[in-house]
Amino acid sequence: MHVAAIIAAGGRGQRLGDAVPKQFLELAGRSILQRTVEAFEASPDIHEIVVVLPADTAAAPPAWLGQGASKPRRVVAGGERRQDSVANGFAAVEATADLVVIHDAARPFVSRDLIARTIRAAAEAGAAIAALPARDTVKQGRRDGTGTTAAWTIDATLPRETIFLAQTPQAFRCEVLRAAMAVARAGADVTDEAALAERAGHPVRLVEGEAANLKITTREDLAFARGLLASRDGGRGTMRVGTGYDLHRLVEGRPLILGGVTIPHTLGLAGHSDADAICHAVTDAILGGAGAGDIGRHFPDSDPQWRGASSLDLLARAAAMVREAGFGVENVDVVVIAERPKLAPHVPAMAANVARAIGIDATAVSIKGKTNEGVGELGRGEAIAVHAVALLSPR
Ligand code: MG
Repeated sequence: MHVAAIIAAGGRGQRLGDAVPKQFLELAGRSILQRTVEAFEASPDIHEIVVVLPADTAAAPPAWLGQGASKPRRVVAGGERRQDSVANGFAAVEATADLVVIHDAARPFVSRDLIARTIRAAAEAGAAIAALPARDTVKQGRRDGTGTTAAWTIDATLPRETIFLAQTPQAFRCEVLRAAMAVARAGADVTDEAALAERAGHPVRLVEGEAANLKITTREDLAFARGLLASRDGGRGTMRVGTGYDLHRLVEGRPLILGGVTIPHTLGLAGHSDADAICHAVTDAILGGAGAGDIGRHFPDSDPQWRGASSLDLLARAAAMVREAGFGVENVDVVVIAERPKLAPHVPAMAANVARAIGIDATAVSIKGKTNEGVGELGRGEAIAVHAVALLSPR
């Protein structure tokens, strides 16, 4: 059975009050969307992933979307309403798909087990969704008055045994989803796909959801999600730290490249590659944290294929090795000891380059320039040295 996942991130939901759509907000070094995509990447029941993004983002998707994929991954632009976005995603699914799983980008904590149970139920019943049985007593309210005098009064107490709160994943055999999408085209406006299948006359099975599978839509949700993450995989004993150091001589006739930025200066760093000491130190820090060797072992000077290599490229390769070893990079902090030139104006561009190469958010990369107060070889401007530290968490 070929199963496709559609990650619905087409909305511009900004209920959290940020300039960034909520699915791109950072949650411990990676965006909410990245964590959601990784959950489906890790599920053995999923064979391809279609990510529906807002049109402007789909035109220039984040770099991590193209990295570390073990199954086909496609990006499509979303539409006006949720069902338009899902329809665009469905159109991009491989023709051989038997079943489609739709999931909210804002639910990064979906478990492998919940994905598997929803798929199994949909394969049996045609359609299935994750839903939480109501635990609180459910009241139906009536709104009296208008404006500031408006108030809610209880109209009825509903039997909570029959009340379920819908989550995603929502899974459908392809023919059922096709029928549901036909209902959507007829104009019905809905907040989930199950409602379309219901209207198309298809039974939809309820699968017990998970409280941790929360949808992050408010500031409170985001804080709760960060806490959940900290207690889950950020607990003591599970985090790893790595440190890296590098030094290159300053010589004439070479460009000065640091963090992938060519900095105007009379001297440049000597070396076989581009001698980008920031990238080299960060590469060693992340490899070290993962216990995955060091830059000299993976990219030896003696190997002609690394001569003149872009160190950002080597860093991206090292980040892939770290992922392969089962770790994600949470953050990186770098100190550059350079008597001159002034690095501060170049820091944002260097941090953005390093973050992109590793596949993390730019806010998780810090780069600080220091002088050596004129002391020693560094102080005389004969060389530039870099210290880096990286924090890694298990994936
Ligand atoms: Mg080096």
